[in-house]
Amino acid sequence: MPVLCSNCVDKRAVLKRPKTGHSLCKECFFWAFEEEVHQTIVAAQLFNPGEIVGIAASGGKDSTVLAHIMKLLNERYNYGLELMLLSVDEGISGYRDDSLETVKRNQQQYELPLKIVSYEELYGWTMDAIVKQVGLKNNCTFCGVFRRQALDRGAIMLKVDKICTGHNADDVAETVLMNVLRGDIARLRRCTAISTASEGEGVVPRCKPLKYAYEKEIVLYAYFKKLDYFSTECIYSPNAYRGHARTFLKDLESVRPSSIMDIMHSGENLSVREGVKMPVQGTCNRCGYISSQALCKSCVLLEGLNRGLPKLGIGKHHRLHDKILSQQPLTEKEERKLKSTDF
Ligand code: SF4
Ligand code: ZN
Repeated sequence: MPVLCSNCVDKRAVLKRPKTGHSLCKECFFWAFEEEVHQTIVAAQLFNPGEIVGIAASGGKDSTVLAHIMKLLNERYNYGLELMLLSVDEGISGYRDDSLETVKRNQQQYELPLKIVSYEELYGWTMDAIVKQVGLKNNCTFCGVFRRQALDRGAIMLKVDKICTGHNADDVAETVLMNVLRGDIARLRRCTAISTASEGEGVVPRCKPLKYAYEKEIVLYAYFKKLDYFSTECIYSPNAYRGHARTFLKDLESVRPSSIMDIMHSGENLSVREGVKMPVQGTCNRCGYISSQALCKSCVLLEGLNRGLPKLGIGKHHRLHDKILSQQPLTEKEERKLKSTDF
């Protein structure tokens, strides 16, 4: 006997929701998923009427579902938003060039304007060239730092008021775990926030409308809606450390499905003891972007690449910032230490 949808008790159930365990038909699942995202947006007051919102679009399942659902909810509930797609081209041949083709098709399908900013035009380096210089160990550090700033720069070119990203519940739980494992209190404090205000000049506010959506349900939604997305992994492999956190989380989830939400709630409710030293935000002396040091991470990494000293931005070399800023030569010993790619 076919199982009936537990919501409409009319159509045949096609899936069991990972989040609630309910057996639902396609239509009832779509409705439940969309309504939950809408509730998240309303409860956290993520948007205001008249705002221009840039959707960070990579062509992957999360951002494709985000673009689809933002357009749908904006129309269904009259949010009054002007939506745009914003993509970053890291310059990874065989990966990003293909996924950007997906974004271009999404642009046609959703009829939204699209802006692509590339590492090459912003920094003069593609990820292909960076990997050639630094190898495959710390490439994701370069990529992550550059992407964050690239999105802000693209958003400013588009004059958007806010960027929304496709981070889901699994991503947030994974990040909480990673920050606990690394003892990164400053990031731990920030990473569960559903929205962040601008932290300074050149930093556009961000929000995560899919924060409470499970990755498994995003995949089901994309699959049943037949959304056009790109599912290949980056050829430069995911950041090894995040990979461990992900595997650990998946193991936990298989024995206790609520682990994802539990970890996220733990992260949300942690508080930092008074007296714990936190980095003080200032601005980069070179590019003006927010930074807790004299130079922002992006400028240090770039300086390292341009000088052929890939280790400069990896680890703590703050005392060298003054030298770099005043173009003083490094000592032979410093050069040697920073030259090796053996991180
Ligand atoms: Fe960039 Fe690393 Fe992600 Fe590839 S896996 S896109 S190199 S951050
Ligand atoms: Zn800078």
